[in-house]
Amino acid sequence: MHSPNDLHGDRHDAGLDELARVVAQERNRVEPIEGFAWPYGVRMAVNLTADYDTMLFRRALGEPVLQLAKGEFGGRVGIWRLLELFGKHEIPATFFTPGRIGELFPESLRAAVAGGHELADHMWEHRTPKELHWQIDHIAKTTAVLTQFIGRAPVGTRSFYPNGALKDAGYLYNSVRSASQMPYYLADPSGANCLLELPYHAALTDTQFFNFGWMGSSAEAQRLSDPERVLELWWDAFLAQYERGGYLNICLHPYVSGRALRIAMLDELIVRMKQYTDVWFTTCEAVARYCYDTFPPRTLQP
Ligand SMILES: [Zn+2]
Repeated sequence: MHSPNDLHGDRHDAGLDELARVVAQERNRVEPIEGFAWPYGVRMAVNLTADYDTMLFRRALGEPVLQLAKGEFGGRVGIWRLLELFGKHEIPATFFTPGRIGELFPESLRAAVAGGHELADHMWEHRTPKELHWQIDHIAKTTAVLTQFIGRAPVGTRSFYPNGALKDAGYLYNSVRSASQMPYYLADPSGANCLLELPYHAALTDTQFFNFGWMGSSAEAQRLSDPERVLELWWDAFLAQYERGGYLNICLHPYVSGRALRIAMLDELIVRMKQYTDVWFTTCEAVARYCYDTFPPRTLQP
């Protein structure tokens, strides 16, 4: 806790200067899409996305076997259940995939592409190196692996790599931030290298509700929600976006949402959403290409 004295004096002024600098910088980076509209006949878009993690970063940290087993389930079982679910409903999804998954579970990536789904970057081994040359190396390796499966280069990422390195490798969009509810353009802090951002929100992410033992969390912080609770939260989120002609980007993880009761919950959610025939269920790439084609960036350099 802070004492009231912390809010006065020099430290306070220094904090305000820093805040003013950050505000100015962010203003130059973010470009909302003015007058945004979905294609004719579409009221809102839904991107069902999955981060195909399988606990790769935990492997690198040498975490306990029981933690690793959760990830293992994602690659052996969970991914197939998600593919079956999306296939049954004929919904194309986006799988943000660490490059190393191509070595561990190649059959599932072949099945995802055959099923009409998008593969996008999610780092090499689910971590971002500090040094730029290693970041560029990881982007290149993942891009090469995903290209083998897709037959052409991926265009999307869910990562915190610098925009410049992503653009050099041909990427069009990121889906990792949430400065807006709607798709928007985001540049580097310098104002250059803009990419489309497809906003992602933690309240629409399965790990926030279903993942116990998340990255060293304490026992009190363990999360295990009833699927019914999450179903109603996400259903309400869908209705709120439908009402305003908005956008919904739900983030799943095969090792989390691939569990049987959660698959049943997602099945129910999709059935409800599909009652609305003017909803566009598509890949992140399709939304990104639509935005660039119809509403290219005006002030930021593409
Ligand atoms: Zn991840």
